[in-house]
Amino acid sequence: MQGYDPVALSEKVEERVSRYRRGVLERRYWRIRSTRHYGGNVAGDVVGCNLRCAFCWAWKFSHYTDKGFYLSPLQAAEEIVRVGPYRIARLTGGEPTIAWEHTRVLAELLVKQGYLFVLETNGVLLGAGRIDPKEIPRKVFIRVSIKAPTPEAFHKVTGASSDAWYYQIRALERLVEAGLKPGMDFRASIVLGVAPKREYAELFEKLASIHPDLITTIEPEEIILYPHVEELVKRRGLKLYHYREPPRA
Ligand code: SF4
Repeated sequence: MQGYDPVALSEKVEERVSRYRRGVLERRYWRIRSTRHYGGNVAGDVVGCNLRCAFCWAWKFSHYTDKGFYLSPLQAAEEIVRVGPYRIARLTGGEPTIAWEHTRVLAELLVKQGYLFVLETNGVLLGAGRIDPKEIPRKVFIRVSIKAPTPEAFHKVTGASSDAWYYQIRALERLVEAGLKPGMDFRASIVLGVAPKREYAELFEKLASIHPDLITTIEPEEIILYPHVEELVKRRGLKLYHYREPPRA
């Protein structure tokens, strides 16, 4: 098998970006900030990911494990409330399902305070059965980001084994099987421009076979070619079929 196993990598990353203190699972963050996504939200950028995407805008933190500072779920929730002013929160910048207990408790704390919590995930641990969809607190909206339209493109983009692509698809299937509704409880977002258009057509067919509403609720993800993203894309030799220039300052 060519490429790494992202589930095995998750375990290594988890050891390095999380720690127990007095029975509480703390996680490394590199910042908490407000952003304009979803009409305004507060984002906690976490350190460490189980993929190594060649277009990752946060690769200086997601591809490493030794940066940032530890927060408990309570400290992270307090910081999100302090940063404000929005009532939508999410973790991003790394993979939030790593150290899942931390994210689950944080989501519960924020939901109790009336926040909408958006769980942005690459779906690997969900698809691999390491997270039970029923453990995801109610009123959490899940966004599964599909990194490439085919197993082969997934390998080129992430360096992971091509078989690991199926974890992403399986994540969507498991959410449907758990009774969650596309558009209401979750959606797939699709990274565009990493393969020719015909390969995306195959992906859309696959998604439609899982649930027809997956197609009508897709969120397109365009790669924005910030200089640090361009640097990684070049270094990894990834051919882009579509991207956007960063907004001018
Ligand atoms: S899954 Fe997301 S955070 Fe992880 S490397 Fe890919 S783009 Fe970056």
